[in-house]
Amino acid sequence: MVKQTIQIFARVKPPVRKHQQGIYSIDEDEKLIPSLEIILPRDLADGFVNNKRESYKFKFQRIFDQDAKQETIFENIAKPVAGSVLEGYNGTIFAYGQTGSGKTFTITGGAERYSDRGIIPRTLSYIFEQLQKDSSKMYTTHISYLEIYNECGYDLLDPRHEASSLEDLPKVTILEDPDQNIHLKNLTLHQATTEEEALNLLFLGDTNRMIAETPMNQASTRSHCIFTIHLSSKEPGSATVRHAKLHLVDLAGSERVAKTGVGGHLLTEAKYINLSLHYLEQVIIALSEKHRSHIPYRNSMMTSVLRDSLGGNCMTTMIATLSLEKRNLDESISTCRFAQRVALIKNEAVLNEEIDPRLMIKRLQKEIQELKDELAMVTAEQRTEALTEAELLQLEKLITSFLEDQDPESRLEVGADMRKVHHCFHHLKKLLNDKKIFGNNTVSNTVSSESKDRDCQEPLKEEEYRKLRDILKQRDNEINILVNMLKKEKKKAQEALHLAGMDRREFRHSQSPPFPPGNPEEGQRMRLSSAPSQAQDFSILGNRSSLLHKKTGMREEMSLGRQEAFEIFKRDHADSVTIDDNKQILKQRFSEAKALGESINEARSKIGHLKEEITQRHIQQVALGISENMAVPLMPDQQEEKLRSQLEEEKRRYKTMFTRLKALKVEIEHLQLLMDKAKVKLQKEFEVWWAEEATNLQVNSPAVNSLDHTKPFLQTSDSQHEQSQLFSNKSDVNARKILPSPCPSPHSQKQSSTSTPLEDSIPKRPMSSIPLTGDSQTDSDILAFIKARQSILQKQCLGSN
Ligand code: ADP
Ligand code: MG
Repeated sequence: MVKQTIQIFARVKPPVRKHQQGIYSIDEDEKLIPSLEIILPRDLADGFVNNKRESYKFKFQRIFDQDAKQETIFENIAKPVAGSVLEGYNGTIFAYGQTGSGKTFTITGGAERYSDRGIIPRTLSYIFEQLQKDSSKMYTTHISYLEIYNECGYDLLDPRHEASSLEDLPKVTILEDPDQNIHLKNLTLHQATTEEEALNLLFLGDTNRMIAETPMNQASTRSHCIFTIHLSSKEPGSATVRHAKLHLVDLAGSERVAKTGVGGHLLTEAKYINLSLHYLEQVIIALSEKHRSHIPYRNSMMTSVLRDSLGGNCMTTMIATLSLEKRNLDESISTCRFAQRVALIKNEAVLNEEIDPRLMIKRLQKEIQELKDELAMVTAEQRTEALTEAELLQLEKLITSFLEDQDPESRLEVGADMRKVHHCFHHLKKLLNDKKIFGNNTVSNTVSSESKDRDCQEPLKEEEYRKLRDILKQRDNEINILVNMLKKEKKKAQEALHLAGMDRREFRHSQSPPFPPGNPEEGQRMRLSSAPSQAQDFSILGNRSSLLHKKTGMREEMSLGRQEAFEIFKRDHADSVTIDDNKQILKQRFSEAKALGESINEARSKIGHLKEEITQRHIQQVALGISENMAVPLMPDQQEEKLRSQLEEEKRRYKTMFTRLKALKVEIEHLQLLMDKAKVKLQKEFEVWWAEEATNLQVNSPAVNSLDHTKPFLQTSDSQHEQSQLFSNKSDVNARKILPSPCPSPHSQKQSSTSTPLEDSIPKRPMSSIPLTGDSQTDSDILAFIKARQSILQKQCLGSN
């Protein structure tokens, strides 16, 4: 059992605005416990008479300042917890802090760069790496992903649903058994055998979370997300299984509202916006107070699920995320205060070992049989009548198979019948005696025949005898070498077959360029076919969760008009820069991987050649030995030594490249998932915007009427191609001006409606007059309408020039 208080760490987020000095300081003297001091500027104090404290000091296990890298956070916070989980202890890491302080960034990671990946992907990578290294145990890994919003649980990994709102996801409920153990009904556990599979599940859950979020529910700031890695391990042959769970928790934003409104006692009397965080605090307070017998876990779903993590069988770590800017000081102080309370909670983690019932049953069945036999020997009536012929025959068969069985643990089971036991002994004795007699005969026969031979032949000369012995030895050597050669030939033939298979695959891929110009991101999904045979698993690259694909494939359902509008929306969206950047990085990584794959292949064939050369050298030497009638020289051959050192060098090179290729593969996979997610986000925002425009149209009916005068344009409108060219003409500033901003905010819309003479002549919010029909005919009408207005605008621009 490991007794431990909950470990608390603080992480300060880089400020959005320029660094504001003097707000906080970190004291990290190696001998002392690190502390964070938050300094309240005077202007935040009330009035002229200032009785307020000006500085607050909080102790943490460690404090990570703004420049701390994700790698550092993982190494210092998550790796030790993951290590305990691998040993069989439960672990929890939860991030607590106000919205925007970096909880999601810390737990899951940033949406842009690979280096920004957070604790979850890094932990998955670490765990799978360790599992691969440890061959002494058999491991199984399962993943679950739960979101709790408004006291309701939702399964983020449900594969059957195309979630468009939280309610579409299956509801997870809590069940408690008589031993007060918590069970989550409807939460699916997905087995993940590789890092990629686990990563796919993470992205599937995150994508579901994003799609299900609406401006109304603000799920990402008001819900808790619990990503759980369930690990079981068992030693081969043992009946004991170890189970461990690792919860990685992204809590809801901890911001509070003031009970008394603006001003006054904001810090002391503020209430959580999120009720379950209030209950979490109640649990923490109860646990940190001595002699409290009742801990109110049951008040909320989140505290029920995390019951073990808080004051139970778990090694728990909290990360207080802080956004230390002037306007956030009160929230930051609250977060630190909460952490100080959490640090008082003691947990007791135990190894969760369990006996595997199936193995146990087998073992017990055997034991029962043995006991029955023993009992029968002692108590049962012994039979005295002679064994039948059939019984004797059966026994002898048993003896024969027992003697033939090579297994040292095999047993001769004849049951609790003394007659049979005695017969077995008799039979064995007979066999032994027979063998002795036969053996003696053989010896005497050989001796007599030998003496006869000697009688009729001249005695062999000593020298001749030695010569014959040497030849015999050489023949033995030759046979050995030939057998080895045969084996190698066979292996080579198998490899050639295998390579041929690979080449075919490679050829198939080489038919299509890695990045087709029209749609580079699709091309990136091709496989790393030039990787060596050992890297076969690389072929699953691109074989990503079809579920995620389904989510990203929404565009296929769009009508032409909508697609065009989407293209324009995409081009103007801020995220498109990130997507483009990632595309570039992906391209680079992909060609790097391809080049590496080729170098690995080269190294492999070089290794093959070197091995071949060494074998050839052996054969030559043996042949030389035979022809000169001398034994193989014992002295090491210099040429061979050289070949061997070259071989070792090549193997090292191969290994290094292989490791790099493996890392590249994970990076590529991650980048692709990031891009998929970004695309789903873009799509979602487009749908929202499109729907908004439709609603606006219904409200703004005069704008619909104003469509009438554009009809002639509709009739004479050219192809959509021309229209899209008009849009994509980046030099046409005015044309671009009329396009709505990708994420229209109420303010920006108001601003755009301030009229200028030019704008007065066209509908005020151009795209707001677009009807949403989902009907492709009408959609193309919409585009024609847009084009019409573009033309009006252009004409007016020309006129005013
Ligand atoms: P939360 O989940 O607490 O609401 P986020 O993790 O979403 O906050 O962070 C808000 C923004 O700040 C995101 O754009 C995120 O990328 C960025 N961010 C947070 N922490 C860091 C950090 N340590 N370094 C760089 N950017 C960060
Ligand atoms: Mg968040």
